[in-house]
Amino acid sequence: MTDNGDSTLENMRTQMDRAQEYAQVTENVFRRLKHPERTLEVSLPMLLDNGEERVFKGYRCQFGGARGPYKGGVRYHPSVSMDEVIALAGLMSFKNALVKLPYGGAKGGVVCNTKDLSRDEIKRITRRYTEGIRRMIGPKMDIPAPDMNTGPREMAWMMDTYSVYEGYTIPEVVTGKPVELGGTPGRVEATGRGVAIITEKILEYHGRSPDDATVAIQGYGNVGSWAGRLLAERGANIVATSDVTGGIYNPDGIDTHEVATQIENGGQIADYDGECDRISNDDLLRLDVDVLIPAAVSHVITQDVAEELRADIVVEAANGPTTPDADDVLVERDVPAVPDILANAGGVIVSYLEWVQNTQEYRWTLEEVNADLERRLSDAFDEMMDAYADYETPDLRTAAFTLALDQQATAHAQRGLFP
Ligand code: NAD
Repeated sequence: MTDNGDSTLENMRTQMDRAQEYAQVTENVFRRLKHPERTLEVSLPMLLDNGEERVFKGYRCQFGGARGPYKGGVRYHPSVSMDEVIALAGLMSFKNALVKLPYGGAKGGVVCNTKDLSRDEIKRITRRYTEGIRRMIGPKMDIPAPDMNTGPREMAWMMDTYSVYEGYTIPEVVTGKPVELGGTPGRVEATGRGVAIITEKILEYHGRSPDDATVAIQGYGNVGSWAGRLLAERGANIVATSDVTGGIYNPDGIDTHEVATQIENGGQIADYDGECDRISNDDLLRLDVDVLIPAAVSHVITQDVAEELRADIVVEAANGPTTPDADDVLVERDVPAVPDILANAGGVIVSYLEWVQNTQEYRWTLEEVNADLERRLSDAFDEMMDAYADYETPDLRTAAFTLALDQQATAHAQRGLFP
């Protein structure tokens, strides 16, 4: 997966500019909110299995921390750059403010291709990276979580490394841990569950329900496959999905569990042998469906795609899938798009619930976690729809950014400027 860091940052600032007109934010605070508070670049010398030494590059960025500790994931990918990490940390700060988590935003990453690295090499990179950023993170300072190509295994190594330096076990320094180490039930599927909840809410808002809806999902990884399975459980007909190898389409519906099992066992969409037509990722975006869910990479809904898209509703599971030009076209064509900062917030909400359980040294049930997630997301959705109506913003994204800016601006106004 690739992200263009420069344009993600530019797009986020454009989205902020569009919301400024509706938000109660002073010019000075608005300027501050456009820039990260700090960004660290670390060099990570590491011994490869073959005895060679290589230096990897890592980053951690903290953004908009007036409302609480910073929070955001760590990704391992060749395209990681300082600009990308800054942009994604900024988006996290707005996401956390929108769903009223007591956090600022953060993001981290290491420039590497995990496909070329052994398990032991990934472990050494993770430990060295954690040492590199450990003065910046902490359970009350900045709490990392998984992102692309990192998961519970890497979070366990991060927690262990941090704890070894501190001299005692500190589970709450990261979230997305294995359940045995203080992870919460429900975290793995949380982002996809959130996408399913939000899809149901936007359908209901338009007088529809999942059981009369057809859905196309671009990307069938963690988020896409859980959104697909949980929407199918709610009655939706998932007619198409894809991965980096291409897409599949069946108007009668695809078996969401069968495809997920194949992917989880290391397979690819290209190898799927169930009944279906083969389509490209580009075709998938233009299918005549009720709901289109981009759940893979950034910037896929461009102006051209937006002009030809035939879905009635877009729900952004991926981070930054729609460009600002495409947003304008969707507004003109009256196609509602639920923005990423709400649609994919399920992951960070359940990360927050994990952190709360860790700090209280208490364990909730899966039912409690899922109920809390559903309540928080539903409230945030209702507030966004109210803001859309009350402020008459052009689209849902502007309404969501307006609410997030208001939260941040209030915290700045109440705290004042130091010194
Ligand atoms: P993942 O790596 O598990 O899955 C990504 C999917 O996208 C895979 O099916 C992959 O083959 C496909 N893909 C990659 N490149 C593609 C391309 N060029 N065209 C089409 N498909 C492509 O990742 P994920 O965790 O499911 O994340 C998906 C998106 O959701 C990302 O934008 C991520 O930032 C965002 N997100 C994830 C979480 C989370 O909790 N995992 C939370 C918030 C946002």
